Amino acid sequence: MTTPLSNSLHIADISTTLHPYTDARKHEKQGPIVIDRGEGIHVYDSNGKKYIEALSGLWSVAVGFNEQRLCDAAMAQMQKLPYYHTFAHKSHEPSIRLAEKLVEMTPEHLTRVFYTSSGSEANDTVVKMVWFYNNALGRPEKKKFLAREKAYHGITVASGSLTGLPYNHKHFDLPAIPVVHLTCPHFYRFGQDGETEAEFTQRLLAEAEETILREGPETIAAFIGEPVMGAGGVMVPPEGYWPGIEALCRKYDILLVSDEVINGFGRLGTTFGCEKMGFKPDILVTSKQLTSSYMPLAAIVFSEAVYDVIADNTHAIGTFGHGYTATGHPVATAVGLENLKIIEERDLIGNAARLSGPFQEGLRKYADHPLVGEVRGTGLIAALEMVADKETKRPFDPVGKLGGKAFEIGHEEGLICRNLGDTLALCPPLIITEDDAAEIVRIMGVILDRTL
Ligand code: PLP
Repeated sequence: MTTPLSNSLHIADISTTLHPYTDARKHEKQGPIVIDRGEGIHVYDSNGKKYIEALSGLWSVAVGFNEQRLCDAAMAQMQKLPYYHTFAHKSHEPSIRLAEKLVEMTPEHLTRVFYTSSGSEANDTVVKMVWFYNNALGRPEKKKFLAREKAYHGITVASGSLTGLPYNHKHFDLPAIPVVHLTCPHFYRFGQDGETEAEFTQRLLAEAEETILREGPETIAAFIGEPVMGAGGVMVPPEGYWPGIEALCRKYDILLVSDEVINGFGRLGTTFGCEKMGFKPDILVTSKQLTSSYMPLAAIVFSEAVYDVIADNTHAIGTFGHGYTATGHPVATAVGLENLKIIEERDLIGNAARLSGPFQEGLRKYADHPLVGEVRGTGLIAALEMVADKETKRPFDPVGKLGGKAFEIGHEEGLICRNLGDTLALCPPLIITEDDAAEIVRIMGVILDRTL
């Protein structure tokens, strides 16, 4: 039943707002689902309907949707110092304490922190840091990025260029910075006939090296990748891929950037994705679960070696002329610190590691479903890819229609997932219990059966 509040919000929304990733004309006809409140792993819409938020919002609400401690932390900081900046030698306690915490939590060699408000801004900042770094080292030609097809690194002009999804490039005139996209390390989709997973890995590493040599190592500044790819369809790279990429970066003096905007803070059952995938980045990008997205915040954590080059050369080539009004925002960093304390105190990373088995194995049983081509994932992130032909892996035509249908059936069944084309992505809050995991698995079965 539609309530008067829901009705008035509906009308106001369709007559005022352009929504991200939304078919605008369709939206004018069908209107919004207005999410009104949250509790634990659930959200409620303005008609009072309850949903399991099985994507944690946008892969981000680790601690659930009504964590009082985060509200208290925000309120206390608002009352004490609601805003101050961190430009030109200014600082404040929450940004300092969170930086200390991030240095403590990230791999040992990462010792310096720069804040932004979103993952996109963070990756734009990484591009500029890497360029500044190479200018400082007197190698102005070393500016290109290596990224992967199907990667998602954000949507601003530079981060959107690193993203490897045609949808984000087409009609936006991207890429607008020098970037070469390599093959996506997803064996199911990009492995060739008769090729083993190990051969696939070697082919991709050979492709990366050939690309570096063809472009000239003196022109390649950095390699950026998500340890486990998220918004492109949840792709876990094969064993040996990341150590191989790391070795190439070291061989050709290329900075290695781990984009952990989704993977960071326990999503894969380890604190960071690079730990699980077995590599050491020079720069690690975090956001989303950093504050459970209660406040917009991202943090780039990087090595002392990168810092030293920037620090030593700021006088020679000018100060590091980059920063945002909200860089290190006191309320956002206070909430981030409290959120990381909760993640530690409640052992939510351990919870993700423990529930990975039941969650992933539960979903794997749908591999036999007539619609499902592949079930994949690790930790508490997973995806079910639906295909028209299980044998040939032929996708549905048009791609996304069936995914959209499944997504809507999910809403009817009280579960919010995300359809990335015809791939259904799941990324539940880290607080889920074994019963919650089983319930998500059960509802996914219902969604698949009803989509058929
Ligand atoms: N990097 C990764 C890996 C992401 O998944 C995202 C967003 O989903 C971003 C960067 C961009 O973050 P934001 O949406 O906060 O700009």
